[in-house]
Amino acid sequence: MENYIPISFLNDFIFCPRSIYNHQLYANFDKMMYQDKVQLEGLSAHEAIDKKRYSDKTTILQNFEVYSDEFGLFGKLDVFDVEKKTLTERKNRVKTIYDGYYLQLYAQYFGLREMGFQVEHLIIYEFTKNKSYPIELPENNLRMFEKFKQTILEIRNYSLLGSSFLPNKAKCDKCIYNLLCDLSLC
Ligand code: SF4
Repeated sequence: MENYIPISFLNDFIFCPRSIYNHQLYANFDKMMYQDKVQLEGLSAHEAIDKKRYSDKTTILQNFEVYSDEFGLFGKLDVFDVEKKTLTERKNRVKTIYDGYYLQLYAQYFGLREMGFQVEHLIIYEFTKNKSYPIELPENNLRMFEKFKQTILEIRNYSLLGSSFLPNKAKCDKCIYNLLCDLSLC
């Protein structure tokens, strides 16, 4: 597991490489210190999954750990329905389907497949609107599959001090670490 990357890094990294550093630095701080109201609402809405209270059915895997040897990733999925072969990532609110959502689901998808599960459907589910957004499998979206592989490579080669980096004001404005980050433009 030494060189494995947490699945959550994929989404964080394409938002801003520095956010991974901040995430690790502030991981043990009280979330009230840096997460905004919307994100805290999301955490609270996610509680049923975290505590595996979403379903009693044994064929529904919740908050389930997955690993991919092929891509060197580990993390947890939200919900996988073994019978329906459907992997679902739950979000409190969905403004747009960010590339990071694809990457996160692809990582979980490959982890499940390596464990011998069949996965045929990927879904982003928005619980405030009770709405599902289907996501193409990586073999049906080669552009996003390439981005998935490229992002893993970039994370592996990224150096906080050695890699060039220019903060982006629009991203800093939306970033949960903008009050704590030394390079924030806010
Ligand atoms: S505040 Fe800006 S530079 Fe710092 S992690 Fe967030 S987006 Fe990146």
